[in-house]
Amino acid sequence: MQAVLKARQAAVWWAGLEFRERRAHLLNWKRVIAARSDELAAVIHEETGKPIGDALLEIMLAVEHLDWAARNASRVLRRRRVRSGLLAADQGAALEYRPLGVIGVIGPWNYPVYTPLGSVSYALAAGNAVVFKPSEHTPRTGEWLASAWRDAVGHPVLQVVTGDGAAGAALVEAGVDKIAFTGSAATGRTVMAACARSLTPVVIEGGGKDAMIVAADADLDAAAKAAAFGGFGNAGQTCAGVERVYVERSVYPDFLARLAAIAENIQPGDDGPYGRMTVPAQVDIVRGHVDDALARGGKKVVGGPESIKPPYVFPVVLAEVPEDSSAMTDETFGPTVVVNPVDSLDEAVSLANSSRYGLAASIFSADRPRALTIARRLRTGAASINSVLGFAGVPALPFGGVGDSGFGRVHGADGLREFSRPQSVTWRRLKAPMDVMSLSRDPAVLDRAVRIFKMRHARGAMPRSQDHRDA
Ligand code: NAD
Repeated sequence: MQAVLKARQAAVWWAGLEFRERRAHLLNWKRVIAARSDELAAVIHEETGKPIGDALLEIMLAVEHLDWAARNASRVLRRRRVRSGLLAADQGAALEYRPLGVIGVIGPWNYPVYTPLGSVSYALAAGNAVVFKPSEHTPRTGEWLASAWRDAVGHPVLQVVTGDGAAGAALVEAGVDKIAFTGSAATGRTVMAACARSLTPVVIEGGGKDAMIVAADADLDAAAKAAAFGGFGNAGQTCAGVERVYVERSVYPDFLARLAAIAENIQPGDDGPYGRMTVPAQVDIVRGHVDDALARGGKKVVGGPESIKPPYVFPVVLAEVPEDSSAMTDETFGPTVVVNPVDSLDEAVSLANSSRYGLAASIFSADRPRALTIARRLRTGAASINSVLGFAGVPALPFGGVGDSGFGRVHGADGLREFSRPQSVTWRRLKAPMDVMSLSRDPAVLDRAVRIFKMRHARGAMPRSQDHRDA
């Protein structure tokens, strides 16, 4: 692939720069994006249908991450001395994070700037060149970012190739040094299988089925507002959006009433709180989930199949939906929220964790220590307490999931290291006091080394008691 060949040459120049030089280029790019953000927001709006305000918010978040990656790469990745330890006391030791080379980034359409830049910015800041394949639904947004790069930096360190899945597959086969894929778990599996053939490492940022847990002591107004924002915002097309809500039974009717009052008053539209569904096929998935939930005995609280008026889907709130319905097991990716009652927070945790996805979750409770304990028990890559998506705007925090939500991390120090190769270097700094790493080693030296080894590591060893063995 021509773009990868060009990127490989540009990568040599880019990797050879000092951190501060790369930082200057990245900050130039950032300034161009920020200065022309209205223009970029218009492109996002045309391609995805999201309101201009949401597009601007997305750009603001993405730029915050770009700025952080540019400013922190040196601190996180630069060479550092490490202790060599007793066994290798004769060696000096240092660790350095080197660039991988060329990173292939494959992006989705729902946040066509924020999501891919989570990989692109951190990969560039770590000293790699990038070939970015945006979603076939948002090619002009991708091209806009590359053209802003050309204006700011010039060298083809960031390039964009457009096309559908076939273009993505070609990029995976093009001999890049790592693939950063964001999209559905199903495509993630295909991408990973292709990467396996060449042992190309891969980051998978997959979908989600995020749960919100509402404790009886929660601020119900705040929880309902957050459920509406997390569930309906961006027409529900958010990987870490709220799709399931588990509410303690004593406050369940009250919470439902407050969420319903918000949902009933939402009118999607170009200037509305959210816009059209970006991809027509997604409307069918949403319809399928709503129909299945109702057919299995779920209750309509706000809207239902009649809320689906393509290209818009009005908010849908369903209650008491069986846990095995597709609306609870699969990613809906539409402005629908299912709210189910639970008898305890333990039950809420167990239901939240029963999903094959594990991207993020939110917990509403007045008791922060208890909420933190719940967060630790959740099988997710992120959790927000008394807010939704709180982590998205904190560049220092890594982002990624478990299970069908994928693996690997973008953002934060972990995101920079994800696109780096740790290189360990040692150097002989003095004559070894006990040279055991030699074919001609003196047996007396090995004896002494073994004595010291046992003193250090075997002292205090207790044979397991008879009782223990029988247990
Ligand atoms: P998708 O899986 O259909 O496509 C994602 C990208 O993969 C597109 O660019 C597509 O062209 C490309 N692609 C398709 N087939 C390919 C192949 N065989 N080889 C290589 N590339 C291929 O996903 P989508 O519908 O564009 O995006 C929505 C999904 O993305 C949702 O599941 C959402 O939750 C997820 N998502 C996850 C995150 C995250 O950070 N975890 C962020 C945003 C979106």
